[in-house]
Amino acid sequence: MNARARRDPERVRREPGRLRKEVRPGDLLVVLAAVALAVALWTASSLSSVRAGGAAVVRDGTVLRTFTAADLAKDATYAFESEGYHYTVRTGGGAIRFEAADCPDKVCVRTGWISHAPQVAACVPGHLLLRVLGDAGDVDVVNR
Ligand SMILES: [Zn+2]
Repeated sequence: MNARARRDPERVRREPGRLRKEVRPGDLLVVLAAVALAVALWTASSLSSVRAGGAAVVRDGTVLRTFTAADLAKDATYAFESEGYHYTVRTGGGAIRFEAADCPDKVCVRTGWISHAPQVAACVPGHLLLRVLGDAGDVDVVNR
């Protein structure tokens, strides 16, 4: 009884080292699982965003112009003016963007193309917003 009690602490002391060695391949699995989860979440979020069913140019909550999905498919530019700033909005390939603006920060232009609802590109100085509109009919296209 006494002898066993004396041996047990030794076994306990040796086991952490052995466990650490055995856990290493497991650590790799944990990392792989985390990566797989991240990819799955990213895929899920990109599937849950909806391909553009259209878009709208909104100024202070007022819709200045709407674009249909067919409009977004066409390569075209549109001029807008807001708060004294001038904007060139470009459509094409089912997407829309602020192509040029003379606003002070150009954040709207740097946002680039947006093509999936509910993405937006905003120009704070010009109170102008590009908003991609969803279309329930397009969900099927994405899932296929
Ligand atoms: Zn801007």
